[in-house]
Amino acid sequence: MKLFPILGGIHPDYRKERTSEKAIVAMPMPATLYIPLQQHIGAPAEVLVAEGDLVRKGQMIARNQGTVSASQHAPTSGRIKAVTEVAAPHPSGLPQMTIVLESDGKDEWADLPEPIADPFTADMHTINDRVAQSGIVGMGGAAFPSAIKLNLGEQKKLEILLLNGAECEPYLTCDDRVMREYPDEIIDGARIMAHALGTPRIVIAIEQNKPQAIGIMTKAASAFPEIRVVGVPVQYPMGSERHLVQAITGRETPARKLTADLGVVVHNVSTTRAVHHAVRFGRPLVARVVTVSGGAIREPNNVLTPIGTLVSDLVEFCGGFAVRPESVVNGGPMMGQPLPSLDVPVVKGTSGILALTAEEINDSQTSSCIRCGNCVTVCPCGLSPIDMASFIRKDKLDGAAKLGVMDCFSCGSCSWVCPSHIPLVHYFNYAKGALNDLERERSKGDRVKIFVESRTVRLERAAEAKRATLAARKPASDNAAPGNAAEAKPAPTTEEKANA
Ligand code: SF4
Ligand code: SF4
Repeated sequence: MKLFPILGGIHPDYRKERTSEKAIVAMPMPATLYIPLQQHIGAPAEVLVAEGDLVRKGQMIARNQGTVSASQHAPTSGRIKAVTEVAAPHPSGLPQMTIVLESDGKDEWADLPEPIADPFTADMHTINDRVAQSGIVGMGGAAFPSAIKLNLGEQKKLEILLLNGAECEPYLTCDDRVMREYPDEIIDGARIMAHALGTPRIVIAIEQNKPQAIGIMTKAASAFPEIRVVGVPVQYPMGSERHLVQAITGRETPARKLTADLGVVVHNVSTTRAVHHAVRFGRPLVARVVTVSGGAIREPNNVLTPIGTLVSDLVEFCGGFAVRPESVVNGGPMMGQPLPSLDVPVVKGTSGILALTAEEINDSQTSSCIRCGNCVTVCPCGLSPIDMASFIRKDKLDGAAKLGVMDCFSCGSCSWVCPSHIPLVHYFNYAKGALNDLERERSKGDRVKIFVESRTVRLERAAEAKRATLAARKPASDNAAPGNAAEAKPAPTTEEKANA
């Protein structure tokens, strides 16, 4: 299959060998789990349980609400201890509403929905409803509710379901292991999703530094002529949806458009496996494989982890810290987020927990820009990081916006390559947040303006109607005989009576 080059990109030290040859291990069920109502892009789920309730594994404990949302399910059986605020697995550490579940040690499943007997004759709504009901979100890190992406077949003409097995972030090997250990489940999930989407072709893209996964997936797909497994070049950020589509089709997704506008829908390989579980067994998403790695971890591994496990419990399962970590990151080292503490839960989008040493972070002193242009060369979006940063430093956000800062997807390549160690991506994250806030304020102002304008129009119309009513009454009094005005006067209106 012909592949197309992507713009820019870098070749960091991948360090995947620490966990890539270790088979997935399941950790014991922790005594307490913390299940946030919002583990996805969109609105938080609506709580269905209260303190003291007994629940079983797989039972829905919070229901999706609004257009973009995802349900949450109990990862084990036990008792609801509280519904309260707990620190989020985010650098801010801000509290978010969370269901606290005490395990009863039995791990008893609830009565699950019946399997969909023949998914390939079921209509797309049946499949999509099951995916929504099972709380499945993008497991590559984006955590976008998967059922919404599966609905795209209704709105757009789609050609390809593209499975993302690139896993281009250093250290992470969870998708690699899932492909090597559960290839048939991924293939089945992919065929079900392609059926729901109406795509005639499936392409599974895997970076060439995973030769075993490419071989195993190719063998598993060999019975299905509609599936192609493709080894793509090892080049960060190949795993970004837009860049993977470009590598496979040669087509560039325009800014503020979806890859679906080019006829391609992208899903992560682990998400696809979760769809297989939901459709074939009625099982919701209650656990995921997490890569636990980094120089500070004593026993790096790929761990099947119940959703809601505290990072501290997961780290302990991996032997704890061999040395004090400089930073603990949720996700990969390039796009992951530093955690405020270990007392935060693993969520559906947690692909990795990395405990990094000072040497791995390379947090060197920042110096002045030497205008080497490296950041421009590597930007996979064709942006000019040096110029955008210059505007942002002067607080000229409009200037940065004109240069396309909102198209930056924070891949971190520019920061990684900068010899002056300028934290460029931090500038862009700040600018994007500030510009989004401004946009929200602007549209709030616009809404107020529209409200005031429509109120003025309404009042003017009411005054006009009143004038017209009074004008209609006037001829009667004008025609009245002199001295008989009282008889000609119309009966007072309710309003006039009230004012009397
Ligand atoms: S890579 Fe760093 S030093 Fe080089 S031009 Fe960009 S900001 Fe300046
Ligand atoms: S972080 Fe943004 S500006 Fe920097 S290389 Fe990535 S996309 Fe380009």
